[in-house]
Amino acid sequence: MSRLQTTDGLTEEQQDLLKLVKEFVDEQIIPVAQELEHADEYPQKIVDQMKEMGIFGLMIPEEFGGLGESLLTYALCVEEIARGWMPVSGIINTHFIVAYMILKHGTQEQKQHYLPKMATGEIRGAFSMSEPALGSDVSAIKTKAVKGEGDEWVINGQKMWLTNGGSANLVAVLCRTDTGAEGPYKNMSTFLIDKTEGFGETAQGVTVPGKIEKMGYKGVDTTELIFDNHKTTTAQLLGGEPGKGFYQMMDGVEVGRVNVASRACGLMMRAFELGIEYAQQRETFGKKIIDHQGILFRIADMAAKVEAGHQLMVKAARLKDKGERNDLEAGIAKYMAAEYCADVVEQSFRIHGGFGYTKEYEIERLYREAPMLLIGEGTAEIQKMIIGKSILKDYPLKG
Ligand SMILES: Cc1cc2nc3c(=O)[nH]c(=O)nc-3n(C[C@H](O)[C@H](O)[C@H](O)COP(=O)(O)OP(=O)(O)OC[C@H]3O[C@@H](n4cnc5c(N)ncnc54)[C@H](O)[C@@H]3O)c2cc1C
Repeated sequence: MSRLQTTDGLTEEQQDLLKLVKEFVDEQIIPVAQELEHADEYPQKIVDQMKEMGIFGLMIPEEFGGLGESLLTYALCVEEIARGWMPVSGIINTHFIVAYMILKHGTQEQKQHYLPKMATGEIRGAFSMSEPALGSDVSAIKTKAVKGEGDEWVINGQKMWLTNGGSANLVAVLCRTDTGAEGPYKNMSTFLIDKTEGFGETAQGVTVPGKIEKMGYKGVDTTELIFDNHKTTTAQLLGGEPGKGFYQMMDGVEVGRVNVASRACGLMMRAFELGIEYAQQRETFGKKIIDHQGILFRIADMAAKVEAGHQLMVKAARLKDKGERNDLEAGIAKYMAAEYCADVVEQSFRIHGGFGYTKEYEIERLYREAPMLLIGEGTAEIQKMIIGKSILKDYPLKG
């Protein structure tokens, strides 16, 4: 049992659940991850098993058929899953954000309709803010929903980078709704778009062109989403009224940042495990490379980062669970865990020498997967903007 990435104060129930997830990862994910990744194959069997385990409903309250777990429990499960194969955690991440947004901001009808089916994984969510021309600057979105007769809205525009865009059958989409409110942020709304799984025209006026080819983060599909006079109604507007979409999405992204931090923690833990194992086997100059102080120091540096990232993530999750704002802590956790992860993976890769550069070794895959976590849910620069603005409030100039 490693002393790294332990979490104080977990209940017996949380510990049992995590043990179960860890066993699932060791037995069902790690042994097949390489093969699935190299084939860029959707991990259908793993997804089906996760449905059975209730993973898709981890944070959905029991009254809606979920397990009603905390963000912390969820984040710790995600950490384990990402240790096995990070893209699998991507499959549940957008689903989790959409379920969270519906729970927090949806109407009673929306909760009753979506959450029970999301808890079983029958309905699976994707989350869409970004467009081809923007990711960081959400205020610049162009996809537009225009109010028609009665309850009708008509959506036109192009969205980009939807994780699970093909495999989800529900997408929470941020649109401009220009209702005349002051400033861009109050003129945005979130629509819940029902679609079929797959590619092509997946609902009236809603096209998913195909999978975007990526350097890593394989298995999970990333897509565009094109709206061409898609007709929907006010009933599909999250919360039932326009103008709240930006704030709803930012709330979703805040928990999403804890989630990305967890994924980075899981991925770097795996890189660490691989590095420390290899270092104890490989010999150079007549001794194991771990016995060269240069390598031992690398291992020490990696261990420190593996531990620090985890504790930052746990702090951010616990704050949100207490009902407190965690923008600063989630920003710090996401920023540092993603940077540490990239660094630990790089160090493990170097420990592997030439073999690390071959597809035969897991570290080659991790090396291609880690950079995604530097980008998703906001880049390092965006996290620094959030951290900087937030911390300045605590240090006003006196006098
Ligand atoms: C594999 C993958 C999956 C994704 N999944 C989703 C998803 O499911 N849903 C979704 O909505 N989006 C998703 N995204 C989009 C992701 O959130 C954006 O790529 C990210 O927010 C960055 O936006 P951008 O790519 O437009 O870069 P840009 O915003 O164009 O930024 C380019 C560079 O400029 C820097 N920069 C931008 N503004 C500033 C500033 N003010 N000061 C300093 N530097 C700045 C950035 O940090 C970055 O280095 C995904 C992206 C990838 C790659």
